[in-house]
Amino acid sequence: MRSYYSFSEYLKTRFERRVQRISLNAGFDCPNRNGTLSASGCIFCNEKGFSRFAGTRLTLAEQIKESMNFVRARFGAEKFLAYFQNASGTYAQTAKLKEAYDVIKDFPDIVGLFISTRPDCMDEEKLDLVAGYCDNYEVWVEYGVQSVHDKSLKYLNRSHTFSQSLEAIENTARRGIKVGTHIIIGIPGETREDIIETARVIAHLPVSGVKLHVLHILRDTPLEKVFIEGKLNLLKQDEYISLACDFIERLDPGCVILRLVSDANPAVLVSPAWINEKQKLIESVESEFNKRGTCQGAKYDKNNLCVR
Ligand code: SF4
Repeated sequence: MRSYYSFSEYLKTRFERRVQRISLNAGFDCPNRNGTLSASGCIFCNEKGFSRFAGTRLTLAEQIKESMNFVRARFGAEKFLAYFQNASGTYAQTAKLKEAYDVIKDFPDIVGLFISTRPDCMDEEKLDLVAGYCDNYEVWVEYGVQSVHDKSLKYLNRSHTFSQSLEAIENTARRGIKVGTHIIIGIPGETREDIIETARVIAHLPVSGVKLHVLHILRDTPLEKVFIEGKLNLLKQDEYISLACDFIERLDPGCVILRLVSDANPAVLVSPAWINEKQKLIESVESEFNKRGTCQGAKYDKNNLCVR
């Protein structure tokens, strides 16, 4: 039993068998890259960092078959969650989204639909569509929230505000769709108090899961340029572990930790290399919680409804 509510534990309880996510690329675009909001994208974004199918020419059905074979052989998975991960997974006409998501209906071993997107790429019509899968599938929408601080969102060139994230989270949860949030730890200018404030705010929203990322550098991104110029200090592993534990301590114990730290495609990762040492990181987080004598929720204050 871990000191936090891991995604694998959640899946084990929910499905009582080995279930694995498979990342898919539906070929959707992103308004923060295609010139609608910005042409340069978030400063950390390199599309090749998303999934093994970045830039693929395979159809969704081919990606699913290939991934299922791989994941069955490697992990002994019996059931699968389709994860629309690349770019903004709801950035298309609703009919096109339906066509993409409906592919899962041809694969009886797919038991869940996960969609990763921007908070400003969701509307009532798309929520109707996504909610329509809830009767037969485990359905989650993951939003790139990153921080509750608008100054940080500006630094990252996210081109949306926290109030847009708040609206998307509340509208989505109201439909019975589970909401995941992506949070970045280590954004320049954010103090420990700023990070803890993000944790407190997220803890009091209808959020079912949190995916933690450490700010890292991928090739061919604006952030790489800042890094090369020596204007950026990345968190060291022990600093990240301490801040991640601070964050998790403030979450509701029932909130699923979808990921302790994002890993990255080694072909495009510049720094830090430790993010891909997943097992070591899991052990270090456990040992930090043991040292503190705390766990997830130890500092969760359910009466402090501190939504900004
Ligand atoms: S919203 Fe996502 S896909 Fe778009 S630029 Fe940012 S990280 Fe990249």
